[in-house]
Amino acid sequence: MINQKQEQPVFLEPVMKQMVWGGNRLHEIFGYTIPGDDTGECWAVSAHPNGDCVIKNGVHQGEKLSELWEQNRDFFGGITGDRFPLLAKIIDARDDLSIQVHPDDSYALVNENGSYGKTECWYILDAPVGAKLVIGHSAGSKEELAELINEEKWDMLLTSIEVKKGDFIQIDPGTVHAITAGILILEIQQNSDITYRLYDYDRLSDGIKRPLHIDKSLDVIRVPAADPETMVRHCADLEADKMHLLVESAYYKVWKCNVVHGMEIKTEEPFYIVNVVEGDGLFNSEPIKKGDHFIIPGNYGMIKFIGKMELVLSTVSDKK
Ligand code: ZN
Repeated sequence: MINQKQEQPVFLEPVMKQMVWGGNRLHEIFGYTIPGDDTGECWAVSAHPNGDCVIKNGVHQGEKLSELWEQNRDFFGGITGDRFPLLAKIIDARDDLSIQVHPDDSYALVNENGSYGKTECWYILDAPVGAKLVIGHSAGSKEELAELINEEKWDMLLTSIEVKKGDFIQIDPGTVHAITAGILILEIQQNSDITYRLYDYDRLSDGIKRPLHIDKSLDVIRVPAADPETMVRHCADLEADKMHLLVESAYYKVWKCNVVHGMEIKTEEPFYIVNVVEGDGLFNSEPIKKGDHFIIPGNYGMIKFIGKMELVLSTVSDKK
């Protein structure tokens, strides 16, 4: 297009969220200013109304990501849609998270005021030795599922797998899941905040139990559950200086890059979200470091990373 101004990448100010299960590693490990020692989530790249990131640099400085999305669709390769499609968070679980499940788009559209459903994936940034994720369940039918839930036979129902730093897990809607104490993850997800809580370990928060959503959970949980081992990919030791596609789902593509010397990428996607999860270096001539999150516009041309760092890149997918 003639005279189209070259957009520059935007760096985002994360939004911190306090949670009963949160901790202080978002400060200790990532150096963010946190509101308290119960900070559970850092919404790193978000245009969601519950945490809309502000742009820190360039001509768009001070704008919210949702505003850039509304007003400047060329930045995002001209793609359509009424909401910015993705959300990237870092989650610090000092304590176990509740056992939960998310709906898909069609269920959320009807039952959650037109919200998107939630497909998500996790890159494990840190985990204690022997850490477990709750993933899936053992019920063979909806009847058995309802019975085990109603009788609160959680040990019989829930299944878990061992994970370690560098593992990557895809969580489709309808998959029962929970992060356990000590795990730190980067989550890439559809832009949605709809979670159904199935079980909260009977914990009290300010003297009361947090509400559960048993009926909706029963509606959306897939039976039988997929084999949890098929959802996990071990990717701590990927070949250096290359883009490794970890998942291409209906909503997003996610890559991991271990930059050791340097690498170049030609932009071929509507945009790239970049999460710097380890180390530091240069992005073209711009210094970047662990904890930085930015979006590279789709028509940017060549991208060059130099330094010693680990990056997670993501973009939208139209593989529906
Ligand atoms: Zn979830």
